[in-house]
Amino acid sequence: MTSRATEVRLASRPHGVPTLDDFDVVVVEIPTTPPGQMLVRNLVMSVDPAMRGRMRGVKSYSAPFEVGEVMYGAAVGEVIESTADGYRPGDHVLHQLGWRTHAVVDPAHAVKVDGSAAPLSAYLGVLGMPGLTAYAGLLVSAEFKAGDTVFVSAAAGAVGSLVGQLAKLKGAERVIGSAGSAEKVSYLLDELGFDAAFSYRDGPVHDQLRDVAPDGIDVYFDNIGGDHLEAAIDVINVHGRIAVCGMISQYNATEPTPAPRNLAQIIAKRLTMRGLLVLDHAGLRDQFVAEVAPLVASGELKYSETFVDGIRSAPEAFLGLLSGANTGKMLVRLSG
Ligand code: NDP
Repeated sequence: MTSRATEVRLASRPHGVPTLDDFDVVVVEIPTTPPGQMLVRNLVMSVDPAMRGRMRGVKSYSAPFEVGEVMYGAAVGEVIESTADGYRPGDHVLHQLGWRTHAVVDPAHAVKVDGSAAPLSAYLGVLGMPGLTAYAGLLVSAEFKAGDTVFVSAAAGAVGSLVGQLAKLKGAERVIGSAGSAEKVSYLLDELGFDAAFSYRDGPVHDQLRDVAPDGIDVYFDNIGGDHLEAAIDVINVHGRIAVCGMISQYNATEPTPAPRNLAQIIAKRLTMRGLLVLDHAGLRDQFVAEVAPLVASGELKYSETFVDGIRSAPEAFLGLLSGANTGKMLVRLSG
């Protein structure tokens, strides 16, 4: 076994759009594994929009990354040494020590995953945190019901692509998506079965949404904020529901961002707007997996993954996520 590991550290806190200079890729000795823990060789790791928030030195719902320290996030790896109860070399585990090739993992912060039931990468996407976000956000936060017309932004991404498909499978009247390119719009219409889709780069979101939603929308699943949120408030029907999952258009902002100018419509339309944190919905995980895993296995629910290869390319993958280089889940393949 090699005695060297590679890890990615936060080199500096970005101002505006992050660059490769904000990351350091460092080769280190593989740490020794204390009793009761396991050494894991990471195989695939996730990059997520929320990591942009952690690059700020600001406390939020999760602690910030520290400058000079290795970053972290979800990863799936293979146990290569273990004195942890119940874990043996060869087991595959999901844990939160990504951004490195090798991790010493405490079994209290890991779960075993079954590579024969689904590809290991799926536990970071469609069957993992983004999948649960889509499921809980649609069913709980947006209080979706059959017959709703649903609009979702960042619709070709990990969360958005599942929101639209779940809504269709559960009886939505109409599902509308927005994304950042003609190719992604075709993906939504031709492969995922959306009823309508548009590229927000082709014209004002408000006008395009009005065109494809002549009878309004009942649910808006917000991944973007900004012009999308304002347009949705204009087009949404009385008693509409907005699940606020993310506001990625603002994550690189260096100045306070303007609020939607039409918030007063919340009163006249009796709207519900509810923030969503996937961490609050861990109790739904078993129900989510029981319902969604068979849909994935049967092909009724489709998912895409965009892979970038090698730990040294992890910063590039993260920057690509923020500029729309991914369709479906953005992942870094570390080995095999
Ligand atoms: P995605 O797979 O959707 O990737 C992000 C996508 O956002 C990009 O592919 C890009 O697609 C789009 N995007 C990037 N910048 C902009 C911009 N300025 N304006 C419009 N679109 C942009 O990521 P996830 O599915 O992981 O996350 C989607 C959203 O959900 C994010 O806002 C994230 O923060 C949020 N989230 C929230 C959670 C919660 O608990 N609240 C949990 C998980 C995710 P395109 O080419 O279409 O522009």
